[in-house]
Amino acid sequence: MTVMVPPKASATASPGRLALDSALFQLDQAAEHLGLDDGLRKMLATPRRSLTVSVPVRREDGRMDVVQGYRVQHNVSRGPAKGGIRFHPATDLFEVTALAMWMTWKCALVGIPYGGAKGGVGVDPATLTTRELERVTRRYVNEILPLIGPDQDIPAPDVGTDEQTMAWIMDTYSVNAGYSVPGVVTGKPTILGGSLGRAGATARGVQIATMSALGDRDPAGVTVAVQGFGKVGAQTARYLADAGCRVVAVSDVTGAIADRNGLDVTAVREHHSESGGVSGYRHADRLTHEELLELDVDVLVPAALEGVLTAENAPRVRARLIVEGANGPTMPEADVILTGSGVTVVPDILANAGGVIVSYLEWVQNTQAYSWSAGEVQIKLRDLMEQAFGEVGALAESRGLTLRQAAHAIGVSRVAEAHRLRGLYP
Ligand code: GLU
Repeated sequence: MTVMVPPKASATASPGRLALDSALFQLDQAAEHLGLDDGLRKMLATPRRSLTVSVPVRREDGRMDVVQGYRVQHNVSRGPAKGGIRFHPATDLFEVTALAMWMTWKCALVGIPYGGAKGGVGVDPATLTTRELERVTRRYVNEILPLIGPDQDIPAPDVGTDEQTMAWIMDTYSVNAGYSVPGVVTGKPTILGGSLGRAGATARGVQIATMSALGDRDPAGVTVAVQGFGKVGAQTARYLADAGCRVVAVSDVTGAIADRNGLDVTAVREHHSESGGVSGYRHADRLTHEELLELDVDVLVPAALEGVLTAENAPRVRARLIVEGANGPTMPEADVILTGSGVTVVPDILANAGGVIVSYLEWVQNTQAYSWSAGEVQIKLRDLMEQAFGEVGALAESRGLTLRQAAHAIGVSRVAEAHRLRGLYP
C-alpha cells in the first residue's frame, strides 16, 4: 500500500472538522489502495444530502431557544441511509458528515444493505428537562421529516439519545403519516417493535471483536481499561468481565477509577446510576483521564467521543490492543505512531458495528411484523461480526495493511462497486 502521510491536526480546528479530516484521509488511503479514479473519489468524499435545520425550543420558563440540527446522508448506493442521531453541544455539520461517512463503510463492511447517514443536534441533553428534550426531539424530527422513512433513512440512538428518544421519533413520524411506522427508527423500546438484544448490541459487538482479536489467549490473564461509561462503555466493561477479562479501569466525564485486582463492574454501574458518574466510587484509586489512556493494560477500549488518541499521547499508550467502541477515537497521526510501536487497533467501523447490525435485524423484524428471540438475534450478530472480522484480518494479513486500512478498503470497495454497477443517471 502507498504510505500516505496523515494531515497534521490543526490546533484551532473544531473536533468535528478534525473528525471529517480523519474520515477523508482514511477514504483517500483506501481509494489510493483500490486505484479509484478521481470522479469516484470525489463522489465518495461528498455527502449525497446534507440538511441543516434550526430547532426552536420552548424552555420551561417560557423563553425560546434555537439550536442547530443536522441530518446527513452520505451515500445510498447500497440501500436506504442508516445511522444514529447524536445530541451533544459540540456537534456540528463537519462531525455529522464524518460520522455519516463512517456509517457508509461500516454497513458495507458488515454486509448489511444500507448506505450511511447521521444526525445531530447541538444541545446538551443534561441541561434540559425531559419535556424540553421531548420538544427538541419532536421539532427536530419534524424539520428532517422529508428525509427520513423506513425505505429512505432510518435513525437510531447515538451519543446523548436513547430508547425514549427513538420512541418520540417513531411517534412524531407516525402521527404525520397517519399510521404506526415502527421501521422508521431502530433502537426503540421492545414494546414498540424494538429488537431483543439491541440495547447491548454495540457492546456485545465490541466484546466479540475483542475476543476475536485476542485469539486463543486465555481471557483470565487479560487486563482492560475502558474510556467512557455510557451505553457502550459500561456494557462493554460488563461483557468483557463476563468473558473472564480483568477490567482494571474505567472513566467517564466525572473522572477515572482503577483497581489493579479488577473492578467489580456491577458495583461500579450501581454507583454510576446512583450518583451520575464513576467518580467517588470508594473501592478504587482515582486517576486522571490521561492516565487511564496510558495505563499498562492489555486492552484499551475508547468508548466515548472522537479524537482522544492523538499524536501527543499515542507514544505513551501502553496497551497492545485498542478496540474502538467509539467512532473516530484515534486521530490518523496517532494511528501511525501506534502501528509503529506494534499496537493492534481494531477500527471503529468493525469493532462497534454490533449496534447497526442489530438495528438492521430490528428493521427486518419490523418490515415483516415478526420478532426473533434474543438467542436468534445473538447468533446472527455473532455470525456477521465474526465474518467481517475474518475478512478484515485476512486482507490485512495478505496485503500487509493495518486492520483499519483493510476495513476501509473492503467497505469503500463495496460501495464503489455498487456505484459502478448501478451506473450514473442520466
Ligand atoms: N449510532 C450507532 C453507530 O454509530 C448505531 C447506528 C444505527 O444503529 O443505525 O454505529
